[in-house]
Parts: sequence; C-alpha cells; structure tokens
Amino acid sequence: MNYDFKTGIELVKLCDAEDIKISEVMIRREMDISETAREDVIAEMRSSLHVMRESSEKGLTEKVQSVSRLSGGEAMKLYSYADAEPLSGSHTCKAAAAAMAVVEVNAAMGRIVAAPTAGASGILPGVLLETGKARNWSDDQLIEGLFCAGAVGMLFAKNATISGAAGGCQAETGVAAAISAAALVEISGGSPMQCLDAAAIAIKNIEGLVCDPVAGLVECPCIKRNAMGAANAMLSADMALCGITSLIPFDEVVVSMYNVGRDIRPEYRETSKGGLAATPTAKLIASGIKRMNGRRDD
Ligand code: SF4
Repeated sequence: MNYDFKTGIELVKLCDAEDIKISEVMIRREMDISETAREDVIAEMRSSLHVMRESSEKGLTEKVQSVSRLSGGEAMKLYSYADAEPLSGSHTCKAAAAAMAVVEVNAAMGRIVAAPTAGASGILPGVLLETGKARNWSDDQLIEGLFCAGAVGMLFAKNATISGAAGGCQAETGVAAAISAAALVEISGGSPMQCLDAAAIAIKNIEGLVCDPVAGLVECPCIKRNAMGAANAMLSADMALCGITSLIPFDEVVVSMYNVGRDIRPEYRETSKGGLAATPTAKLIASGIKRMNGRRDD
C-alpha cells in the first residue's frame, strides 16, 4: 500500500481504508520513504519530543534572556500566574506559557524544534506537553500526536506555505496552531476528519495575519503570538471534538490561506518594513540594537 498523500481528503481516505489514525499513516509513510524500520522512525520523533520538553522546561524554570534583551522571563510569569484562577483558565494559561517558554529559549539561542518554524516553535510543545501533564498522556501518545501534526503540517507545506516570508505569520503561528489542534484531537480520540476540521478552524481564525517582527528579531510579536496560538489550538480542538465542523473543507481552507498569503504586501512578510515593525517604538528599538551591535563590532 502506498501511504503518500497530497491532500487532506487523500489522507482521510488512507485512514478510512485501513481504519488507522493520521499518525499511523504518517509513520508508515516515513518508513516507506526513508526505508527505515518503525522503531527508528519512532525513535527519531522521541528525540524531537525530548528537545521540545527540554526547551519548554528551560523557559519555565530559568530566567532566559535574549541577546537583544528584548525578551525573556515572561513565560515564567504567566506560568506562575496560571495557578491564580486566571480568566482564561489555568490549563490554557499553562499551555500558553509553555509555548512562550520555547520561543524565549529560541531567542536566547537555545535548542528548539522548529514546528513548523523557529518563530512558531512553541505552540505544538506548549499544548501537547501541558495537556499531556493534565491528562496523564504517555510519551507514546505524545509521539503519535507529533506524527499527526507532521502529516497535517506537510499538507500546508505542499499546498500552501509554512514561511512567514512567503505567506505572513498565518503560515507560521497559524499553521502551528492548526497542526497542534489536529494533534490534540487525535490523542483525545477524535476521528481523522475531526483532526482536519480542528486544523481548518484554527487557521481560519488567523487567516491574513501578517509577519512584522520588530527589529527583524524573532521575539516581538512572535513570542506572544505563540501564546495566542496555543489558546487557538485548544479551543479549535474542543470545537471539533464536540462535533462542530468547518463549513469550508480543510483542503479549500489551505488554498485560501495560500492565496491570501500571496496577496500580503512584501512590507508584511518578514521584511520588518510594515505593521508593528514600522511603529515609532519599533524603530527606536531597531536603532538602539544597531548602535549596540556597532559598539560590539568596534
Ligand atoms: S511575526 Fe514573522 S517571524 Fe514572528 S512568528 Fe510570525 S511569521 Fe515568524
């Protein structure tokens, strides 16, 4: 059997044909393509999970600070606050904090797993690890979630884009939220179609979001967008799990997101020439950093 797929519909058909989950299709596809044994494919993903856990724990327990000194320490702040009956719920706050932690570690030159990019690397570990803690999910379950996320992420990469420079932040934090929502649904026992519904709901919520990093650094607004992406993923997963569907099918949502991305002007695609990056405060920050770098070069 050929486990390759190009669209969400093809992926669901493969699942239905053998009554298997999205993660299982992805594992078999990886085994075929890389001609690798199942244990090795899974071991590779286990090591990604390990790095994700390490980066999230580091950002939640150590006061990391970025080289620019623009970020660091806010993930810890939100995580401690999460126990004080926050308005958005303790679990949402913890997942958002864990998502921020990973991107803070990235900004401090630490090791992370791009999911799908460094700028959006917090959402998937944030929601999976924190929900895993709350629900006692095993590492094996989390690994299945990562394979599911990988399969859905591949659909975005093939049929749209996962690059902020090509399609705006919707392609980074939006896709990260979408693949995280799919993973949460699969581990929670939802069907493959529900996984795609969750992903579609998440990306629709963020379609058109621009990429406008202040001073060209993956810190502001990236870190807080990871927090929001975690909340987006969790609510999208809950909507799909309770039986809410996406009126526009997943594959069409992906194409629409790509078309919107192509229409986003270059100023809003990672050039730091528009949006938040073009505000007076951002310009001051950027010139301060330039001066600091100039002094370092002297
Ligand atoms: S704003 Fe740009 S650099 Fe930051 S996470 Fe979004 S796409 Fe990535």
